[in-house]
Amino acid sequence: MSSPTKSPAASRPAVRAADKAPATQALGWLHTARFLTTAPELRFLPALDVPEIAFVGRSNAGKSTCINTLTQQKQLAFASKKPGRTQHINLFSLGKQGVTDAVLADLPGYGYAAVPKQDKIRWQQVMANYLVTRENLKAIVLLCDPRHGLTELDEVLLEVIRPRVEEGLKFLVILTKADKLTRSEAAKALSIMKLNAGGGEVRLFSATKRTGLEDIACLLWDWAHEGADLASPQDRPAETP
Ligand code: GDP
Repeated sequence: MSSPTKSPAASRPAVRAADKAPATQALGWLHTARFLTTAPELRFLPALDVPEIAFVGRSNAGKSTCINTLTQQKQLAFASKKPGRTQHINLFSLGKQGVTDAVLADLPGYGYAAVPKQDKIRWQQVMANYLVTRENLKAIVLLCDPRHGLTELDEVLLEVIRPRVEEGLKFLVILTKADKLTRSEAAKALSIMKLNAGGGEVRLFSATKRTGLEDIACLLWDWAHEGADLASPQDRPAETP
């Protein structure tokens, strides 16, 4: 994959203490997340003209925990685990003052061994269809538990999205549960994934230690507001929700 254009957050080294304001604003924006709709497949989703950021990953990778931590809402993504919704695409609106300026899409976890084969195949088709044809899709966030690395289905997903990433779709791999790794294991996991991510971004994340939280929030904000600069006061979202 060719390297996508670097966003301001990509070139930002790390969020420093003196530079908290952009991270605070980005997290405030993510905190506005609210349930929008749920659908069993792409054709039942509303057509939207705001940027959509899709979260994907194998079951148990830590996707729900990551979404809940980013949005600072304990139950938000666990709505996607309610009976009847586990195989659905769940959308959450983002935007201050009730004005939606982006959408998070939570795609069902894949690779869960107990799911019947027919259901697995059906779900892979739904996901591939979504990832290849969703028009307002702006970015894909792949959640990966670094202790397991990329699974076969993760590799399939990378192949499916490769043409869109080459066309400029943003791509981020989040290495979850970083608190379970030693410093050297974390560094190794990061460098291996950078080689596999085809020019996409890679970040370590821990929900318990909040590792990577601010940096990831800024990256998502930048991707959803291309052209605007989170560090610039006039481009930041309004303070009051
Ligand atoms: P999902 O199936 O991908 O949505 O995964 P969950 O968010 O439900 O997380 C799967 C398991 O990993 C749960 O037991 C979580 O408590 C645990 N987990 C998720 N994130 C972290 C983390 O950052 N650190 C640790 N130590 N455990 C985590």
